[in-house]
Amino acid sequence: MTTTPAVQGWFTPGPEPTLLGSRCTTCETVFFPPTSGFCRNPACNGDDFAETALSRRGTIWSYTDAQYQPPPPYVPTTDPFEAFALAAVELPEGLVVLGQVAQGYGVADLRVGAEAELVVENLDAEHSIWRWKPVTEMGEEADQ
Ligand SMILES: [Zn+2]
Repeated sequence: MTTTPAVQGWFTPGPEPTLLGSRCTTCETVFFPPTSGFCRNPACNGDDFAETALSRRGTIWSYTDAQYQPPPPYVPTTDPFEAFALAAVELPEGLVVLGQVAQGYGVADLRVGAEAELVVENLDAEHSIWRWKPVTEMGEEADQ
């Protein structure tokens, strides 16, 4: 089954997916989601950006649990609603990217400061989306 990214140009699919950000060619600041126009770094006058692949691993900065179905425009993918976890992951580039947590993982698998890796999973029959998968350290027992 082939799926297409739910948001075009924000990530690459495949076995080793990467998020695509914009790097200001003047001050080297990296932005995600991709941006254009003017640089949001107040100390920079740059307006030229290059597409850049972000690191596939980062550190969990914060996380939360969506126990209730969010209001529209959220599109429920299950009926009844199934709780999912969200993680904010800080990348070495210095930015924090929010995403759902990979299938089979929940808040019990998350810890601030732990490592998470980017994966791409099917959102529905036609679309894929990036998610954060907790990286299980060597010797540590996985709950799932
Ligand atoms: Zn800049």
